[in-house]
Amino acid sequence: TRSRLKAGIDAPARTRDGHSVGLWGNIASPHDASGVLDAGGTGVGLFRTEFLFMGRTTPPDEEEQFQAYREALTALAPFPVTIRTLDAGGDKEVPYVKGLVGEEANPFLGLRALRVCLQHPDLFRTQLRALVRASAHGNLRIMLPLVSSLWEVRQARTLLEEVRAECRDQGNPTAERIPLGIMVEVPSAAILADRLAREVDFFSVGTNDLIQYTLAVDRQNPRLLSWYDPFHPAVLRLLALTAQGARAAGVEVGMCGEMAGDRLALPLLVALGYDDLSMSSARIPWVKETLLRLDRPSCQALWEEIQGMESGSAIRDRLAAFQETTG
Ligand code: PEP
Ligand code: MG
Repeated sequence: TRSRLKAGIDAPARTRDGHSVGLWGNIASPHDASGVLDAGGTGVGLFRTEFLFMGRTTPPDEEEQFQAYREALTALAPFPVTIRTLDAGGDKEVPYVKGLVGEEANPFLGLRALRVCLQHPDLFRTQLRALVRASAHGNLRIMLPLVSSLWEVRQARTLLEEVRAECRDQGNPTAERIPLGIMVEVPSAAILADRLAREVDFFSVGTNDLIQYTLAVDRQNPRLLSWYDPFHPAVLRLLALTAQGARAAGVEVGMCGEMAGDRLALPLLVALGYDDLSMSSARIPWVKETLLRLDRPSCQALWEEIQGMESGSAIRDRLAAFQETTG
């Protein structure tokens, strides 16, 4: 298998019948960029910028952020690098932001991620300025976390446009176009995918949070593992709704949660038309190896069948059996 994996690294990521799927890497710092390329990844679908903010009491300034974003963009150019704006709170504790927000009874439902950025525009502006300036150095896409309503996207876009105009007026080179997308990781965003798709350039499903919020199951609690089910029929319906909403508006749809690197899930994601899957770099060769053996019509037939099934465990068994036949 090792040599098969190695041989696959340079092969184009597509099914036997020629349907392409972008296989991208998730990174937490610019130093992870080379790992994505070494694994055969052709982009970054999620740069978790929280790591620049963690383990310190003051936020990184514009210059420090600019350097980090530029480094990642340069290393991966001309491939796309999707940089997520600060996703602090919940499972990602950022002391500085905690100081701004204070104690909360339910941090996972609290003032976190995009919410805290909209509430503290100076914090957000600094990051957006660093991103806009870095856009001149590669193929940048900006991604907003934890979107739950249209107004949040509109407010964020207005701020981004202001920052772009300001950077240009100050003589900074910037990219012609900076795609702005959202993570679909709150059920309301998946349910309103058709509306949200008219406001953005791309979607990326964050299954780690989408599963947690759809099933009301703490993603970090090991005692809830039997409840935390990526193949729960309700979760799959939301994945389908999201893809349909994107498709209808001609917007790209990807996935950057753990499920994107799960080979059992791959036939479903191919059937639903997910354009890009972003995962930890180590998973890329394995997922590619599976992708090369699939064909889209069989995946679509499998999806038809699975939509009628009643439980995550039955679906998982069916997917395992399907994997055996394509193995
Ligand atoms: C997710 O929620 O699926 C995701 C990719 O983001 P994070 O794991 O950083 O919350
Ligand atoms: Mg998330």
